[in-house]
Amino acid sequence: MNEDLHTSLLQWYESHGRHTLPWRNTADPYRIWISEIMLQQTQVKTVLERFYFPFLERFPTLPSLASAPLDDVLKQWEGLGYYTRAKNLHKAAQLAAPFMPKSVDGLLALPGIGKSTAHAIAAFAYAIPVPILDANVKRILYRFYGRREADEKTLWNLAEKLFDPVHPYEFNQAMMDIGATLCLPKSTRCEECPFQNACKGAAGDPLHYPAPKKSKSVPVRERHIVVYRHNGNYGLKQRTGRFLHGLWGFHEQTAAPEQGTALDSIVQVYSHFRLEAEVWLCEGYHEELTYFGREEIDALALSGADHKVLKQLSASRP
Ligand code: SF4
Repeated sequence: MNEDLHTSLLQWYESHGRHTLPWRNTADPYRIWISEIMLQQTQVKTVLERFYFPFLERFPTLPSLASAPLDDVLKQWEGLGYYTRAKNLHKAAQLAAPFMPKSVDGLLALPGIGKSTAHAIAAFAYAIPVPILDANVKRILYRFYGRREADEKTLWNLAEKLFDPVHPYEFNQAMMDIGATLCLPKSTRCEECPFQNACKGAAGDPLHYPAPKKSKSVPVRERHIVVYRHNGNYGLKQRTGRFLHGLWGFHEQTAAPEQGTALDSIVQVYSHFRLEAEVWLCEGYHEELTYFGREEIDALALSGADHKVLKQLSASRP
């Protein structure tokens, strides 16, 4: 059965695959790795239009990324969010330079590279016959095999079962494309899908698979962000904790400041909490902060929330 399916899949990929994506027109494992990490939490369109090329222009090779200061890498990553990805990229580059590992095990040993990413790099750069298992592929597997629920191990087994080891590159790319264009979370176009005759989901209601996840409520973190201004310069601090480590930000506290001008409020949604903060401008000196001119701040890597604060500051011109 798989042979016919694989032939249909190959034909479909030939005519409908997204062949022009730049990371598909290279066998350079470094470029493929950068695209895979960027695409983990960011849409193809955004990566393509705003981040992939500028990042590679700034860090064209693995050694250039390895030798760059972390601050520069974070600055280049600004806007992509999930900064652990950038820190891991930098750390992994330092461990691997001057060459990317050539085996799945070697790739897996690097920080930030999980099994699916290691398999993607291995299949796309070295044609090693291993399947991938990203969110799109998982959704297809749930539907194809008519599963409402499955643990990670079962999903890997199903991915292996459906896999075409003779055409690892085309199979994996086609799976990603079907997941991105036909087998979507809230709709499907089964009549155009090469799996339609064998897919259990297509035989009934494809959206029945997988079972919907119970939505977790995200806690709200209420804070006051105080912008200290001293001699016309603004105070910021480089974060050292795990979260947003390495990024610069304005002073944050739980209570409202005793003095200062209230600007506006900002909201920033992170994966594990929602930040709701009142923004204040305070003329004064805070000894834990480093002071920068307005233009100097543009050269620092800031979180999304601090960019919003900066915007308010510019708009208020107090
Ligand atoms: S046939 Fe339909 S449900 Fe099955 S994989 Fe294709 S698009 Fe998804």
